[in-house]
Amino acid sequence: MNDRIRMREDGVPILLTPGPLTTRPETRQAMLRDWGSRDEAFIAMTAELRRRLAAVAGGRGGHVAVPLQGSGTFIVEATIGTLIGADEKLLVLINGAYGERMLAITRRLGRRAEALRWPEDQAVDPAAVERALRDDPAITHVALVHCETTTGLLNPLAAVAAVVASHGRAFLVDAMSSFGALGIDVGQTPITAVMASSNKCLEGVPGLGFAVIEEKALLAAKGVNPSLCFDLHEQWQGFERNGQWRFTPPVQVAAALLTALRRLETEGGPAARLRRYQENFDILAQGMTRLGFQLFLAPGIQAPIIATFYQPTAPWFRFPSFYQALAARGFLIYPGKLSQADTFRIGCIGAIGPDDFRRLLVAIAAIMEEQKEAVDGPVH
Ligand SMILES: *Cc1c(COP(=O)(O)O)cnc(C)c1O
Repeated sequence: MNDRIRMREDGVPILLTPGPLTTRPETRQAMLRDWGSRDEAFIAMTAELRRRLAAVAGGRGGHVAVPLQGSGTFIVEATIGTLIGADEKLLVLINGAYGERMLAITRRLGRRAEALRWPEDQAVDPAAVERALRDDPAITHVALVHCETTTGLLNPLAAVAAVVASHGRAFLVDAMSSFGALGIDVGQTPITAVMASSNKCLEGVPGLGFAVIEEKALLAAKGVNPSLCFDLHEQWQGFERNGQWRFTPPVQVAAALLTALRRLETEGGPAARLRRYQENFDILAQGMTRLGFQLFLAPGIQAPIIATFYQPTAPWFRFPSFYQALAARGFLIYPGKLSQADTFRIGCIGAIGPDDFRRLLVAIAAIMEEQKEAVDGPVH
């Protein structure tokens, strides 16, 4: 299906990374013009963008989409700064680098925060969250990373949401690497705010993040964020007032994201996209296993977003030369980000399909032979 978007003829490699990632030609094409940020045409694009983002989250009127210039971390910082007040307290559920980052952001903002931690290969346990909320009534908000991109681990979003809601606390979800593929439905799951960015499963280019936030939480957040730029209450008020961004928007990034969102709809929505990613993942995992590589995560907690593999312990394997050899063949993979083990990662998201992964596996098999020969000498 992906013949048109496979290896680019211009020699640009395929990105097997969790964002920026490989985009479709029409998404990049959408950037080839200028827009006046306060002109009607762009105001209409912003309105459609916000409507589509809320719709992908399952928003049915109670939630609104608030885009913000910057990378994904910017929207996480903005959301935490806007929703957690000086007399409130956030419980961060951590089993990877992005959970740690939310904790660091909250503390840097001078807000009270507590952490519950699990090893990087274990999912968040809703029962432990339940105990923590029962034991500490001062906790007003809970934050979870939906897919921990550190490993590709899928946390139990619905179960944690139910626990948080049953204790009457607010729930923030970093859905950066899941939004647009893995099902998130704020109409069904009690979630106060979902945060994501343009350049992951939505398959846009990098440059903006957004949060889909419960309108009543945003209304109550007036004057909470001490930051002018990162105040999502004011950002939202700006959109509501005149349809415009408060400060210069990344107009080309917004145009590309809008094209990518329309494409998501014609592809069949998040469910269809997830099927493509799952097929990518399955081909990759089976092929790599055949080649002797081992996945870091157990199958039950693995999201088909990014795969973490142990580095082989064989003497021929050196990650830098493995990486370089793959890059020379047009595939950019991703180093590991784990504290516990030597790993590397291969992303399954972006405008890529099963054929790309079949070609990748052929390339990996060839590189392994070359590198073994370089160490052992040719086999006769
Ligand atoms: C990508 C990502 C982020 C944001 O990273 P940026 O580099 O700031 O875009 C945050 N959380 C998760 C889970 C991510 O995958």
